[in-house]
Amino acid sequence: MVPVRLFGDPTIGVDKANEHIPPNHCIWAKNILEQAIKGFKDEIKGVITTHGCDCTNREFDIWLECIDLEFLFFLNAPLKRNEAALKFFIADMKELIYQLEEAFNVDITSEKISEAIKKMNQIREVLREISEYRIKMILNGSEFHSLVKRVQQMDKNEALEMLLSRLEALKTQKPHLDKNLKKILLTGSVIDDTEFIKFLESLGFHIVIDDLCIGTKYFWKNVNETEEPLKALAEYHLNKPIYSTKFPSYKRFENIKDLAKKYNVDGVINIAQKFCEPVLYDHPYFSKKFKELEIPYLFVEIEYNRESYKQLITRFEAFKEII
Ligand code: SF4
Repeated sequence: MVPVRLFGDPTIGVDKANEHIPPNHCIWAKNILEQAIKGFKDEIKGVITTHGCDCTNREFDIWLECIDLEFLFFLNAPLKRNEAALKFFIADMKELIYQLEEAFNVDITSEKISEAIKKMNQIREVLREISEYRIKMILNGSEFHSLVKRVQQMDKNEALEMLLSRLEALKTQKPHLDKNLKKILLTGSVIDDTEFIKFLESLGFHIVIDDLCIGTKYFWKNVNETEEPLKALAEYHLNKPIYSTKFPSYKRFENIKDLAKKYNVDGVINIAQKFCEPVLYDHPYFSKKFKELEIPYLFVEIEYNRESYKQLITRFEAFKEII
């Protein structure tokens, strides 16, 4: 089995999903539901959802009612980060393993999980190295974004080979990006449309660093290879900087501020998918704190379709002018 991350498709409408959920529900989550109702490709045999935000959490109840798939599982990744949460998370992962073994007649042993951890750690290391070529003005943010997306949908042995060969090529390349590009830290909701990153680049921005799940959150640190594998996985997830789907805002802010300072960015852009409540909730706090630090900050709520990006040109251009 190959884990394949699901991405939205900004080129489709969401008529079928609209029959199940109200109009002020996150447009990105609705887009995934739309794809599921219409039917995924045959090779997708099941879907595992985790507790991201409350919206994806409750949307899973709709999936259970109206999606025709062999396997559906809700992995309840806890918000809290204490001993009880760790135990709870490990127990839920054990339940997931049990159900996968039953449904697909496979053995998911500790040895296999340890092997997978090692492979993913190698991938994380190479991605961290490749990511630095963004700050060296060699690698476009959009190319990096699309590379991470491919890794999230590929067999991991093939992914590692692909990344190693890209890294070798990067080592021989000289900086070629325009030095006048504004260096940006990108944060916010899930941003999975690479065309949106290209759109920002076309306006003179260069994403040197991010705080995104298709980005640094995917390769933040390594999983401990000496620990019991499920415990190591749970600890890894509970010790990462918190996602934009979680609160408190001040903890998210601390991480973003540290990245902004470390990479000496010209500004921070915070993107909310329409009706993304967790990101909308963080915005007033971020706005106040970045103002205090005199780090230029722009918050934009976007529609999940490419036509609407053009309507934002003036806001981005105005931001570029002040930084
Ligand atoms: S965190 Fe925001 S973008 Fe992600 S699913 Fe929840 S509401 Fe949607």
